[in-house]
Amino acid sequence: MPSRTLNLDDKLYQYVLEHTVREHPALAELRAATAGMKHGGMQIGPDQGQFMQLLVRMLGAKRTLEIGVFTGYSSLAVALALPADGKVLACDVSEEWTSMARRYWEKAGVAGKIELKLAPALETLDRLLAAKGAGQYDFAFIDADKSAYRHYYERCLALLRKGGLVAIDNTLWSGAVANADDRSTDTAAIRELNDFIAGDPRVASSLVSVGDGLTLALKL
Ligand code: CA
Repeated sequence: MPSRTLNLDDKLYQYVLEHTVREHPALAELRAATAGMKHGGMQIGPDQGQFMQLLVRMLGAKRTLEIGVFTGYSSLAVALALPADGKVLACDVSEEWTSMARRYWEKAGVAGKIELKLAPALETLDRLLAAKGAGQYDFAFIDADKSAYRHYYERCLALLRKGGLVAIDNTLWSGAVANADDRSTDTAAIRELNDFIAGDPRVASSLVSVGDGLTLALKL
């Protein structure tokens, strides 16, 4: 066997956190507040947040998209990594979850960098494409309803500039993608996208086994 990703037990994961994560106080507070909520497990881990911050910095990103905000951890992480004139256009349909997100964006002093669109994301993305045209964004993070992943991927890819990056969350789906007995709708949708991206000549990609699987696709 070639060397491959280690199975992180609690102790080794703790080591990773202790030796990499420099979490902004507002991020730490938001993570703790979200962890206690129903659906709190949907939040990305701090190691993944920091990895995404690194990607955003490497891209020199200024204009970014987020599909699926939940309570705002990833949008806050990205906003903190953007330059002063950077922007996140954040799409979600939940007033309840995003009202919590707004509080922490304000607390961290980056609310002015984040524009929230409370509407179905496909509508927002189609409107953006119609109004501004393709190729305007540097980075997109997709972490929303899995059944529409394929559509989000297409819209985000169109909106990205050449050399822009789309990051898609949960592409390992707790391992379910490799379990042939799992035929649920969400699992099937993620598998379909994984298969598609693996053969998509428009991108260079990598399925990174951070968190629940994070696929990176760079627009060629
Ligand atoms: Ca997720």
